[in-house]
Amino acid sequence: MRDVVKKFGQTTVLDGVDLTVHAGEVVVLIGPSGAGKSTLLRCINGLERINSGTITVGGQQLSYDEKSLNRVRSRIGMVFQSFNLFPHMKVIDNLTMAQTDVLGRSKQEARDRALELLERVGLADKARAYPDNLSGGQQQRVAIARALAMDPEVMLFDEPTSALDPELVGEVLQVMRTLADDGMTMVVVTHEMRFARKAADRVVLMADRGIAEAGTPEQVLEHP
Ligand code: ADP
Ligand code: ADP
Repeated sequence: MRDVVKKFGQTTVLDGVDLTVHAGEVVVLIGPSGAGKSTLLRCINGLERINSGTITVGGQQLSYDEKSLNRVRSRIGMVFQSFNLFPHMKVIDNLTMAQTDVLGRSKQEARDRALELLERVGLADKARAYPDNLSGGQQQRVAIARALAMDPEVMLFDEPTSALDPELVGEVLQVMRTLADDGMTMVVVTHEMRFARKAADRVVLMADRGIAEAGTPEQVLEHP
């Protein structure tokens, strides 16, 4: 992001933000409610349209024609606070639908990939369950697997554990931690400071319409 300005009406939420996230890097965004963390994330994949500045994803500058949006979004997976699964579809179908419809994979290919990813998030036995019959933590792990099924180069997480009962937070963070350790490029908005300390390469503190501070977890989180 270069000199990114984002306004809602007269209100400036991001006032000239510069942020570079390198391949394989895990960046955790923290800061008070209303600081613009979610907005920044949503600007990266074009869910929000910026007023000025530039956003470049994997060398491609984001513009807002359908072709550019589709191209950028195909490289980015996003996980929201509310899991956003299709409730009328089994877990396996939640994972295969976009693979066949968007990526053009065969049903068999899509199934194989889905099962591999369900295994990876610890839910191999839930393929035929409906989302409503899963815990929040399980649903969020399905949502992560669904995003990964599109083979994204970048994963964005917007408070992925904030809607969960405390005892279910750990299982989702564990999956994210493994993903980070495996080298996924990630931008994560979270209040989980233990995750930030352990998983982040860089912590970015947002306040006052932009980035107030950025550095290693030690630099940003440990000072008095
Ligand atoms: P954070 O994620 O740090 O809590 P947000 O990015 O959600 O902050 O919000 C930043 C500011 O932008 C807040 O003042 C919020 O009210 C405002 N905002 C967010 N989305 C919209 C919207 N769609 N329309 C108007 N204002 C919005
Ligand atoms: P480690 O063995 O590295 O201390 P764990 O294997 O217990 O960590 O968990 C991996 C990551 O998941 C931790 O870095 C932490 O951020 C997160 N985590 C696990 N369980 C919880 C929990 N109950 N609450 C918050 N975060 C958790």
